[in-house]
Amino acid sequence: MKRIISKIRNFIATVRAHHSMPLRLEFVVSDYCNLNCKGCTHYSPLAPDEFESIATLERSAAHLGATVGHDIGDVYIIGGEPLLYPHLTDAMEMMRRHFPDNSIKLFTNGLLLPRMNDEFWLAAKRHRIIIALTIYPIKFDYDAAQALCARHGIECMIFGDRRAENSFMRFGLDPTKKQNARLSHFKCFNRGCISVIDDKIYPCSISGCVSHLNKACGTSFEHQPGDWLNVADVKTAKQIKALRDNPVPFCRYCNPNPTVTDYGHSRRDKHEWTD
Ligand code: SF4
Ligand code: SF4
Repeated sequence: MKRIISKIRNFIATVRAHHSMPLRLEFVVSDYCNLNCKGCTHYSPLAPDEFESIATLERSAAHLGATVGHDIGDVYIIGGEPLLYPHLTDAMEMMRRHFPDNSIKLFTNGLLLPRMNDEFWLAAKRHRIIIALTIYPIKFDYDAAQALCARHGIECMIFGDRRAENSFMRFGLDPTKKQNARLSHFKCFNRGCISVIDDKIYPCSISGCVSHLNKACGTSFEHQPGDWLNVADVKTAKQIKALRDNPVPFCRYCNPNPTVTDYGHSRRDKHEWTD
């Protein structure tokens, strides 16, 4: 009996912790990337070299900044590899204009930092952009990249160190869509990765970016009403919180028990992402 009560208490505490997480918005500027990581959660090894239009990005940022900017925490500029985005300096300026009081982080694998020009560094400094560096098990001098940011007066944080054991997962979408959506959502490893893509908001990149998998590998993971919000329909942060905190139809594709896998290069094989 004690064990059952303890399990119920743990469950309630976990749900409360999930619901009290600060909201953040991840603006996806491209899924194209200069690394090729197996099982990437943005399907970047399969993504074409296409980029979000700056007009669409501005429209989404303007609407979300005005309606929910005060109710969210961080704003991310994310990819793929956002340092490849041709409109990056404009994007940084515009994000700061629409989210004047939020922490804005630019997520990068860092490989292109040594090649960025003065225009980039000046814009990053002027608009108080934080470089969020993810470390991968590849040959690259991450200490030098951090020192470079410091020399330009830019805050740099290590967001994740993927050299650590167990830091890569294979999520293995179930094409039969027979998973228990509540369980998958409760155990979700991508919780809070609210992705703004074009003029839509998805609870995660696994769902939001799945068209790359479908196009490249002939799979047919489909979206249904309830899987996304239209940016233009967002009036309060509660709507985004509800999208994050409740299972969506796409969760039925998600295996609640993803497996740990070693880091490796993608072979662009669909089985990196699906059973
Ligand atoms: S660096 Fe990040 S975005 Fe690029 S392929 Fe690897 S996991 Fe995906
Ligand atoms: S579809 Fe649901 S369970 Fe799957 S990654 Fe997204 S939020 Fe998590």
